Amino acid sequence: MSRDHLIVYSPSQETTARACIRAWHFERVGGFREPKSASQLYGTEIHKQLEDVITKGLAPKDPRAIAAMSNLDLHAPWRVESEYKLPLYSIDGVRREWWGAIDMLRLDPLTIIDHKTTSDLKYAKTEYELAQDGQLLSYAKIALDMRPEVDLVRIGHHSIQTKGAVKSKLITVEVDRAQVEARWEKSIGMFLTLDVARGVDVHSLPREGEKTGHCEAYRGCPHRERCYAKLFGGKKVNLKEKMAALAASVKVPEKEDRASKLEKLRAATAPKAKDPGPEESEAEAPKPRGKTRKPKAPAKAKEASGECVLYWGCAPLKGGDGAVLLEDILAPVLSAIQTETGKGWQMHEYRKGTGLIVDALEDLDLPSAIIVDAESALARVVGEVLFARCAVVIRGTR
Ligand code: SF4
Repeated sequence: MSRDHLIVYSPSQETTARACIRAWHFERVGGFREPKSASQLYGTEIHKQLEDVITKGLAPKDPRAIAAMSNLDLHAPWRVESEYKLPLYSIDGVRREWWGAIDMLRLDPLTIIDHKTTSDLKYAKTEYELAQDGQLLSYAKIALDMRPEVDLVRIGHHSIQTKGAVKSKLITVEVDRAQVEARWEKSIGMFLTLDVARGVDVHSLPREGEKTGHCEAYRGCPHRERCYAKLFGGKKVNLKEKMAALAASVKVPEKEDRASKLEKLRAATAPKAKDPGPEESEAEAPKPRGKTRKPKAPAKAKEASGECVLYWGCAPLKGGDGAVLLEDILAPVLSAIQTETGKGWQMHEYRKGTGLIVDALEDLDLPSAIIVDAESALARVVGEVLFARCAVVIRGTR
């Protein structure tokens, strides 16, 4: 059958689509496929060597593959790296099929093993996680279809560590036909969703990766640039210039809860008896890290000179009328960005957003004093810039 009349779905497509449907669209509809990384190529080589042991009787050369052989019953009648196809359904005369390759399949007892290379065995899935794994359960569907009289199938990951010590382990779990069929129904639902998604503009799809963590997974999503290419009305813009313009219009708002936040910070960082606070004893305050400048003069003198004092995880115990909460300074900037980019974009959780916030803060006129909740997500994003820009840093000691 011509591929014009056939659409193929696979376990890896389903995995990607569940992590972010946009990423799936970029890869499978847009054709933006990344070349294999060095670690992926190494994983393929380990797979090949373990396959050759069974199919050709060739001893592996890689020490990690050699060590991993001890996890497997290599004398059992395994079907290795076999490809399977399963018809799904047709829409407008175009057939849909599921295609997949199973690393190791044994029909009696019904067993499926998938090799996984990982930088650290701590990432190996647990039995519970394996029992939910969409890829393994779709393989289980294939296996159970081959043995209609059987109700149970053992599925597992053979995980091989690729860095540091030579280590590997096999973890398996038994699942029954009802579990497998229930999961397969969900897979069909996802394939139908993909049928719809492939017909729309990728930029109209939700950025699910922001919720699932796929934007930042591994080395970060390779589609970030194209995913956010339509920011600011679809025009290509100089983001730094755009943010500088937004920053120029920033007014520091007075929020209703500002006083209570200040009180909270004061309470959290107030010195205990016989324990002089940071203002009374700057010499005993912990040293700021990174680009932090050492205090050269008492905080009061710097405030009076108009230079910015950074209260990091603390608040002024006396005075501090000019002190502004970091989130108040950045609120209009965040609001402006989110208005431009659509609701739900958590700026401080996304690498590009992080860059925009930092750019904005570099260009802002700072008040005489800034109060930062050192535990906050914003603090992590802009801490380095604040330390570099503020003349005096006073750290809380909680
Ligand atoms: S950058 Fe994030 S939202 Fe965009 S395609 Fe990648 S994972 Fe999805």
